[in-house]
Amino acid sequence: MPAGEKKESSHEKPKLSDFKLLRTLGTGSFGRVHLTQSKHNNRFYALKVLKKSEIVRLRQIEHTNSEREVLIHITQPFIVNLWDTFQDDANLYMVMDYVPGGELFTLLRKSKRFSDDLARFYAGEVLLALAYLHSKDFVYRDLKPENLLLDADGHIKITDFGFAKYVPDITWTLCGTPDYLAPEIIQSKGYGKAVDYWSLGVLIYEMLAGYPPFYDESQFKLYEKIVMSKPKFPSFFNPAAVDLLQHLLTADLSSRYGNLRRGSRDVFEHEWFAPIDFEQLAQRKIKPPYTPKISGDGDASNFEKYDELKNPYGIAQADPFRKYFPNF
Ligand code: AMP
Repeated sequence: MPAGEKKESSHEKPKLSDFKLLRTLGTGSFGRVHLTQSKHNNRFYALKVLKKSEIVRLRQIEHTNSEREVLIHITQPFIVNLWDTFQDDANLYMVMDYVPGGELFTLLRKSKRFSDDLARFYAGEVLLALAYLHSKDFVYRDLKPENLLLDADGHIKITDFGFAKYVPDITWTLCGTPDYLAPEIIQSKGYGKAVDYWSLGVLIYEMLAGYPPFYDESQFKLYEKIVMSKPKFPSFFNPAAVDLLQHLLTADLSSRYGNLRRGSRDVFEHEWFAPIDFEQLAQRKIKPPYTPKISGDGDASNFEKYDELKNPYGIAQADPFRKYFPNF
């Protein structure tokens, strides 16, 4: 882990009873994310709750600790802010800013597909966040529309750093979401930051087409298609978008944009992004083309409804796994 920029210092940890637990916003593999309200300042937060026994069973101890370390160490306008973490006997808790506009995925499915302008705006903010992460030697590894939330103004916030990792050179773990996996991950080759540029290509394609570039019911066939990396481009795609996507969705690492001598500049300076002023975009000065409908601070109507848990959190019990999560 690189030094510097620590948000944390030795301080009193929050606890579950500091929060009013409201509805579920989303679910993940080892727990769920709740809307909560602080009893101290009345502000709304998203509280991610992860069950320690599930993390251990699914061998995700390192990934979970890594998620905390990456998020605690970074501050970037298009990445969700993690305020603090704590644990009790059964669970780990992550206190994040509540991002009320819902998942980009929901907006995309409702709109069927996005115009070039809308896709470019979101892709541009994601690109800034990825370039920032890479500058700190973090690889994100799980880019997909479910992990991109919209804030109250309509700007992107990337969430779910469960697969983010400090990777100064290369790594080998198989992780990520099948549709968005880069060929070099599937082929168990060592990989690095270039995987995020591949997924950026999948994201831009999916925003413009309304469906991902590689798809198959069978995971085996899906992987074959990804490794072949010959996506079909619908005729309505803008030629500049096709050119960029051909340079992102290539299995050949020596020709993938983002991974070449000029690094991210090949992407930032590509013709498809020409209408964007990245300096302005980085300062959140470009007005989002779409503003989520939000009726008040704790409005969660942009999130799907989930069945709520019957068993409350915070029951005292044996805690054999605390030692695996020393920083929570
Ligand atoms: P995760 O387990 O981090 O992928 O989160 C699962 C789901 O919870 C996401 O897909 C979002 O719908 C929701 N979610 C996660 N973080 C936040 C947040 N900070 N604000 C609002 N919703 C969130």
